[in-house]
Parts: sequence; structure tokens; C-alpha cells
Amino acid sequence: MLCALCGKFFLLRKGLISGILPLMTDEQKFKSGFISIIGRPNVGKSTLLNALLGEKIAIISDKPQTTRNRILGIVSRPGAQLVFMDTPGIHKPMHKMNEFMVKTALATYSEVDVILMLVEATEQPGGGDRFIIETLSQLKTPVFLLINKTDLIKKEALLPLMQGYSKLYNFAEIIPISALRNDLGNLVEAILMRLPQGPKYFPDDQLTDQPERFVVSELIREKIFELTKEEIPYSTAVVIEEMKEEPDITRITATIYVERDSQKGILIGKGGGMLKQIGTLARQDAEKLLGTKIFLQLWVKVKKGWREDERMLKNLGLVTEGE
Ligand code: GDP
Ligand code: MG
Repeated sequence: MLCALCGKFFLLRKGLISGILPLMTDEQKFKSGFISIIGRPNVGKSTLLNALLGEKIAIISDKPQTTRNRILGIVSRPGAQLVFMDTPGIHKPMHKMNEFMVKTALATYSEVDVILMLVEATEQPGGGDRFIIETLSQLKTPVFLLINKTDLIKKEALLPLMQGYSKLYNFAEIIPISALRNDLGNLVEAILMRLPQGPKYFPDDQLTDQPERFVVSELIREKIFELTKEEIPYSTAVVIEEMKEEPDITRITATIYVERDSQKGILIGKGGGMLKQIGTLARQDAEKLLGTKIFLQLWVKVKKGWREDERMLKNLGLVTEGE
């Protein structure tokens, strides 16, 4: 059974959502397509998506597994539209939630026109990369290998690395990049070459299909990842309880769920200092993104074992309906 997001994507693809159709262009040569970004956790998938979009939409962190949902990023160019998907990192499933994340990532393969597989220039091909490459076998979709973080290595190290990877899979392209420095080489052009003629799916100024609520909750989660340690970030979920747009200000109330009382204490911090810091940083980013003044109120609640709680996961959009 398709998950809510996959289902939506599938419909989109087939042009069945009526809201999408009026944007169809008369221009014969308009190109469009879907591009999936895959790779081990922490290789820079979200950074790449943000570099492509020039705005902060996907959550970025130096801790793995921060991306839980698929995120669409839309790049509109004259004559073309590229729709990118940032997938959860592929890794061995542990919790129910992680199992869902891996499934979502794998499900995107057959639905897209190009797959971008990210690896890190600082590492030789490892077990994690091989696991991903195995899942690609017998796939007709072209796979580009993007060797990211080239800013961290010497130029001479690149060629042997490219040769090593080319032995593992018949990649359609191998492109060295530095997502962080926005140095993407000929990536966009190479993708455009592989896209079929197709409709304009979204208005030119739209960057993502994710509701603003989701993006704000991700920003809050990002700050928790930045400011707290060890298991705390992985034990939190953020739910936007209310988002009220007034003429001069948007009022947002969010609850941060944690699994234990001790985690609640850490998140709130001495005299509420930690929560205040999370709130301030998240508010600043959200103001930039939404272009409006924001009043952000954060609550912390304990919900034991939420990661194994089907209903909670469903509410967060982290498991398949009926699964
Ligand atoms: P994801 O888990 O694959 O989405 O990875 P993220 O995009 O969250 O990035 C993980 C970490 O790698 C973050 O600290 C990024 O700043 C860092 N990173 C991403 N791309 C680059 C790059 O091109 N160069 C360097 N030096 N760091 C990068
Ligand atoms: Mg990510």
C-alpha cells in the first residue's frame, strides 16, 4: 500500500490532481521530471537540496537520520522544471519509524527520471554504499554518482575514487561536487539532458510542496539537533499545534515530544534557557523563510515510547496508513 506521501506523488506524476493540470504548458519543448536524492545518512543530501533551491527548506545537521519525510524541492528554469526529492537516509531499520523511512526511500526509485546517489569524497566506498548500490540493481532509471564534500580532499584523490566507484555500478554520470560551497559542476545541465518533455507541475515561485507547518516543525527539530546531544534529538518529535496568520505577525504554537522526564529537563534547560535558545533560533529562520514576523511558543511534553506508538507516528506522517 502506498503511503500518504507516495500516494500523493503518484497522483501528481499521472497528472490526476486537478490543481496541477492548469499549469500545463502549451510549449512543446518544456521539460520536467522527478529526481530522487539518495545516499547514506549525513552525506549531504539536504545540503544539496538547499543548494539547488537557494533557500533553507530541508533540515541540515551533522547528526545522521534527521530527515524523516520526503521533501519536494522545486527548481524552475526557463523551459524546464526539476522536482527533487530528499529521502530519508538508507540504513538498517531499527525502530518502526526507521523501517518506514527506508521503505519510503526505496519506493521512490521507480517513480523518478533520475536518481542522484550521494557519497562522501572523504571515504572509500564502504558497506553502506554497497548496500545502496545493491538496491539499485536491475534499475532502468539513470543513476548519477555525486561525490560530495570535495572541498575536504586533495584534487589528486578524486580520480582513484571515481574509478573505484565506477567498478561498482554502471553510473550514468559521475560528478564531483561540494554542496556546502554550492559548487555543483554541470549537475543541473546533466539532469536536464535526461528529463523527458513534460508539463509544468508547479508555479514558478513555488519551492516545495511541503506545508509551511511542516517546514517550521523541521526548523525547530534542526535547532534541537544543533543544541542537544546524544539520544535527545532522536527522541524528539515536533508537532505544530497552531499557526495563526495575523496581518503583521504569525503566531505559532509547537509541542516538542520527548520520551523521558530527564530529556524534558534537558530540553527546557536551566531557567528555561535551552528552550529559549531553540525557540529564538527557530523563529529567526522561520521569519526568513516565511517573510513575516513570528511569535513562537514552545512546549515540551513527555510521551513515553512515542517512536513505537502507531497512532503518534501516523499523526506525524511517519507510517503508512493501514500498515
Ligand atoms: P544528509 O543526512 O545526507 O541530509 O546530510 P546533511 O545535508 O544534513 O549534511 C550533513 C553534514 O555534512 C552537515 O554538517 C553539512 O554541513 C555537511 N556537508 C554537506 N555537504 C558538504 C560539503 O560539500 N562539504 C562539507 N565540508 N560539508 C558538507
Ligand atoms: Mg537530510
